[in-house]
Amino acid sequence: MKRFLSLLLGLMLLSAPCLAEEDLSMAEIVESVDLDQPESGAWDFPVALADLDPDFVKLANKHYLLEKGYSATPLVTVKALKLNKDGSNANGGIRKATGSKMQLQEDCYKALVAMSDAAREAGYNLYLKSAYRSWSTQNTMYKNRLAKNKGKDDGWVSKAGASDHQTGLGCDVIPKSWLKAAGMNSKMASEPECIWMAQHCQEFGFILRYPADKEDVTEINFEPWHMRYVGIPAATYIMENGLCLEEFHDQLQEAIQKYLAAGGDRSQVEKLIQPSTD
Ligand SMILES: [Zn+2]
Repeated sequence: MKRFLSLLLGLMLLSAPCLAEEDLSMAEIVESVDLDQPESGAWDFPVALADLDPDFVKLANKHYLLEKGYSATPLVTVKALKLNKDGSNANGGIRKATGSKMQLQEDCYKALVAMSDAAREAGYNLYLKSAYRSWSTQNTMYKNRLAKNKGKDDGWVSKAGASDHQTGLGCDVIPKSWLKAAGMNSKMASEPECIWMAQHCQEFGFILRYPADKEDVTEINFEPWHMRYVGIPAATYIMENGLCLEEFHDQLQEAIQKYLAAGGDRSQVEKLIQPSTD
């Protein structure tokens, strides 16, 4: 906008007859047109390059399929929460909604434990229901869902490679009141635990991966329980600006192209480049 106004001002100066008599040389007029160009090769994006981990901001959806063996690493096993007598977390664990083994990428797991500890201090108990899922597990889930749904994809289960859970950074976190529920649906959003998570998740590096107002962009139904770890700087930017990961991804890819076009160092952004698999 600033650039446009500067250009407009420049054009007005050039065309204004009363100014033509004044002693304004062409060079002076051109000099006054501030093109507002970023410094050559400068990173012009709200999140610093050093704060963008290529795995943490990787997009997984049906247009950006993950490779079969991919996940962020290392994956660690989730421990069931044990509390000390004073109520502090004895083993760095989190309450589990099921008895089955669950894994998450290590930074994501630590952040989830920190979020769950903070929630408990605020009076809310969070339960981890689902964490990392391999490509093969997702493939089985998708086929089962299709079989149950007469071959129709209803948007509830992603196909293999398209699931945020394969990144090792996506997790389903639910309130106690939903532990016995047969399924999950958007009504969960009105539970105080989910309201708390939506307000505080970015402080721990999480975003709401499938927001209610972004169903047309994510192509996934609203999931108030699905948290995705992206790191605190990216999470803060995404949540404060009401974005979904797809929109953040588009902005980031555009910033990378601008940076490269302006002569930026390719080795600094190479791993952040993620083209569509369509
Ligand atoms: Zn999920």
